[in-house]
Amino acid sequence: MSAWEPVIGLEVHVELDTQTKMFCGCAVTKGDPPNTHTCPVCLAHPGALPVVNQRAIEYAARIALALNCTVQPRNIFHRKNYFYPDLPKAYQISQFDEPLATDGWFEYWHAGEKLRCRINRVHMEEDAAKLLHAGGDAGRIAGSDHSMVDFNRGGTPLIEIVGEPDIPSPAAARDFLQQLRALVVELGVSECVMEEGQVRWDANLSVRPVGSTELGTRTELKNMNSFRFLQQALDAESARQIGEVEAGGAIVQETLHFDPDTGTTTPLRSKEEAHDYRYFPEPDLVPLVMDPAWVDELRAGLPELPGARVERFIEQYGLSRGDALVLGSSGDLARFFEAVAAEGVDVKAAANWTMGEYLAHLNESGLEPGHGHVTPARLAALVKLVQEGTVSGTGAKQVFALMIDERGEPAAIVAQHGLAQVSDAGELEEVVAGVLADNPAQVEQYRAGRQQVAGFLVGQVMKATQGRANPQLVNELVRRLLSQ
Ligand SMILES: [Zn+2]
Repeated sequence: MSAWEPVIGLEVHVELDTQTKMFCGCAVTKGDPPNTHTCPVCLAHPGALPVVNQRAIEYAARIALALNCTVQPRNIFHRKNYFYPDLPKAYQISQFDEPLATDGWFEYWHAGEKLRCRINRVHMEEDAAKLLHAGGDAGRIAGSDHSMVDFNRGGTPLIEIVGEPDIPSPAAARDFLQQLRALVVELGVSECVMEEGQVRWDANLSVRPVGSTELGTRTELKNMNSFRFLQQALDAESARQIGEVEAGGAIVQETLHFDPDTGTTTPLRSKEEAHDYRYFPEPDLVPLVMDPAWVDELRAGLPELPGARVERFIEQYGLSRGDALVLGSSGDLARFFEAVAAEGVDVKAAANWTMGEYLAHLNESGLEPGHGHVTPARLAALVKLVQEGTVSGTGAKQVFALMIDERGEPAAIVAQHGLAQVSDAGELEEVVAGVLADNPAQVEQYRAGRQQVAGFLVGQVMKATQGRANPQLVNELVRRLLSQ
């Protein structure tokens, strides 16, 4: 055990799924030809004036309320000045010391424990345009011949959730992000498609002696959008810092780059301070005054959030914490599971089928929960067939596969393909007698006292019936015939 522990903080950016941009009427789109959704405002022509998108403020407030933040009655926009080719104004309209919402918290599950991370603030800003680097290696700027800029994304509403450094490990940081993403998706304010960078984050990490409450000097990892790389990068950086301080060195505050190929972090640039951006109040926008009645209305309209639903699943259905997390974190999957359970089948079986065959089917087909031919009613009907003993567990898996291919009702599929479980003792006794006759050596061993051979013979009977035999009955018959 090391005498040092990491402390992690996350800042999460989410692009909001509004119809139009943050400060102009251009459409927010995905996949359209470059530079087809631009106007004088988002291209920063002289004299063009921004107008705030009310829906974006509503969405941002929903996120802030779901994170238990206080929505500030008055908040203002600031200019954050810096030059980059994806930023035509040479400043980003953001929020600084008077943000939309402050002082919240988010609870998440990690390793069977519920952890709480304080949320410093939730603020609004606009996204930059998108740079495309051509002629180089895998679209990276290093080694490219030239770069192009697509302003379609420029001005997309963006919110930043700034967490306090309360996260105790890289694995906990991953759980935090996955569960935070599920929360935002549930709110219906962003689909949070990771591959499209709709959600991305910066992480900061410092180390301190175990048990200390003081924070060490932190380093930052910027602009990540893969849960796996985040955890790898934080593991690498935590080990690097601990090695450094144990060797008597000091940590330098800087921004690092993580290389997944080598698994190491290297300095990118020294850390900017807030004053480097010369923040000042945006003179083209008036302060935003939040009507308390509207904020109350938004709070009352929040849906059941994933954290609360996971708890309800444990309580209401008696699910284990692990199962409740799998089934309760995503709204669509949770609704599917609850619809199956509502058909009056055994809840544990409904949970197992939803997490097992059904989830595997979704992963394979790329379908979203609730879409496709396996409806909750059909899955419930299949679970019932198993409960009643009409099909065996093995047979039911065959029926499930056929439900996808043939798009039919389970009972019809069972009848059509002759998949009903054989529970007829007379019929099975003949098969068992045949198997015993074919395996005289094993029969001999059993009678000489090697009881475990019975399992092999049961397996042979199941094989001979293509898994359709009632296993309990086969077991009884094998033992009865062997002891005759
Ligand atoms: Zn525009």
